[in-house]
Amino acid sequence: MDETEKTRKQMQIFAAREKILKIKKIVFKIIEEMLEKEISEDWFLENCPKLCTTEYEDVIVERSIDRLCGYPLCSNSIKQVKKQTYHICCLDNKVYDLTERKYFCSNECFKASNILKHQLSSLPLYMRLLQL
Ligand SMILES: [Zn+2]
Repeated sequence: MDETEKTRKQMQIFAAREKILKIKKIVFKIIEEMLEKEISEDWFLENCPKLCTTEYEDVIVERSIDRLCGYPLCSNSIKQVKKQTYHICCLDNKVYDLTERKYFCSNECFKASNILKHQLSSLPLYMRLLQL
């Protein structure tokens, strides 16, 4: 590899890095907005698919720290997070894991959020856009 070729490669790497940073900033801004109490449905539907599963999970946890329901479209607050992490249902004797349920104000929000989460990509936006 001669010097010009080397410089060209370095320029390409630099440009790709710049693009990744730019996309990461956009995603970070979306995550920040999702921590707000009032979120418009249009904005949410447009921006949610830009998040990947783990980023969405971060939103849920962050919202619950602020005592907000983890489902971004819900502005209800949640009660003090319960210490108990499992619940045995007396009707069917099934053991339910409450670790995730506790982030939501109701079963409806928990379900809606799970459906949404399963539609999200597991890859971060920059990987999807730049096809790395
Ligand atoms: Zn809710």
